Amino acid sequence: MKISVIGTGYVGTVSAACFAELGHEVICVDIDPSKIDMLNRGVPPIYEDGLSELLEKHVGKNLSATSNYDYAINNSDVSFICVGTPSDNEGNIDLDIVKAASASLGKALRKKKEYHVIVVKSTVVPETTEKVILPIIEKESGKSTGNFGISMNPEFLREGKAVHDFMNPDKIVVGSLDKRSGDIVASLYSGLNCEVTRTNPRTAEMIKYVNNSFLATKISFSNEVGNICKELGIDTYEVMKAVGKDFRIGPHFLNSGAGFGGSCFPKDVKALIGKAKEVGYEPALLRSVIAVNEIQPMRMITLLKNKIPDLKGKKIAVLGLAFKNDTDDIRESRSIPVIKELIEEGAIVSAYDKMAIENMRRIFPDIEYYNSAIDALRGADACLIMTEWNEFKSLDTEFSIMKNRLIIDGRHMQSPRKDVDYVGLCW
Ligand code: NAD
Repeated sequence: MKISVIGTGYVGTVSAACFAELGHEVICVDIDPSKIDMLNRGVPPIYEDGLSELLEKHVGKNLSATSNYDYAINNSDVSFICVGTPSDNEGNIDLDIVKAASASLGKALRKKKEYHVIVVKSTVVPETTEKVILPIIEKESGKSTGNFGISMNPEFLREGKAVHDFMNPDKIVVGSLDKRSGDIVASLYSGLNCEVTRTNPRTAEMIKYVNNSFLATKISFSNEVGNICKELGIDTYEVMKAVGKDFRIGPHFLNSGAGFGGSCFPKDVKALIGKAKEVGYEPALLRSVIAVNEIQPMRMITLLKNKIPDLKGKKIAVLGLAFKNDTDDIRESRSIPVIKELIEEGAIVSAYDKMAIENMRRIFPDIEYYNSAIDALRGADACLIMTEWNEFKSLDTEFSIMKNRLIIDGRHMQSPRKDVDYVGLCW
């Protein structure tokens, strides 16, 4: 099948490369010319394990990129909308980018005679596909459904494991208004070993929000339990390991720590809160999920100040800037509020991350960045572990280079030991 992918960020680029791997002919579309240029040279605009290899294999054969909507729509049968859906100032979903992409798609569709399917892959609150995107496409194309199809196909991949997750999904959800477009979208995934859940667009939209909100709830629940355990001198990891053996609960997402970040959980929970409010429901639990998540990074600072009350002029090493391991993405990273607070307290921040330094430099251009943990730790008065990079588990003699061997661990990467003053965030 011929596919166009609108928006070549994390989801768009990974989807495009994986659809190419599944044998489809794929054209990527983006308004950012630098991304188009990179893709056409086979260079991934973002880091994802395995992505570079897929681009190398398919660019120039069945994968290309353009900023020309007309060309992409004319030369494809199905278009996936994969543009960003950030939060607005109140935390509600901001649909401006989706609206702009839908308008461009609609205009291009006006010039096409053949049936075309539009698929919303961006995460959008329930009713958006039917009440926002569809009317824009109808208006701009001058066509009505039947002449084109529309489906909602949420994406569940995890950053850092995105290629693996796309190729090995545990669910594929296709919500369509008409059977024809739903059948076409489902058929695109026929090379994968996964049942396709068929439903309507608003249910598909809701499934994505419930999925992310439930995972975020598990994390905030575990963090709250961890905060209580800490006061009682109980190791919350021991508690949750046992609790997770209950098949109704499961062992995943029970690790307490500095909280969740990233481009999805915070904004998606807030967007669902916004949608609930819009329909007259007060979502008390979801609000608490966000509130607990805001507390966690500040607890890192509180624990640090318990040991060093005045941080002015103190060198604090921050290990980990990405919102999680195996990605260069720093969106909503819990390191951001921590570094902000350290700067406000007058501390000298020395930061290290395997992949995310360049991204963090745009937010904090004036802190010190180092290319290794040991360089960031040199002469430090304390160290905060903020991301669960594997390499932080094996740090050992490196701590001896610190001026004062104090470790505040936000990710359970280390354990108590004699030669350092070790403080676990929730354990
Ligand atoms: P992103 O910000 O990384 O990428 C969006 C891309 O769209 C950018 O390259 C941007 O230049 C491009 N773009 C903006 N306006 C455009 C337009 N009018 N026409 C064409 N391209 C345009 O976003 P992302 O992280 O890939 O997320 C995309 C969507 O997928 C969001 O709704 C997000 O919530 C959802 N999602 C993301 C993840 C994830 O892990 N990142 C996982 C599942 C779902």
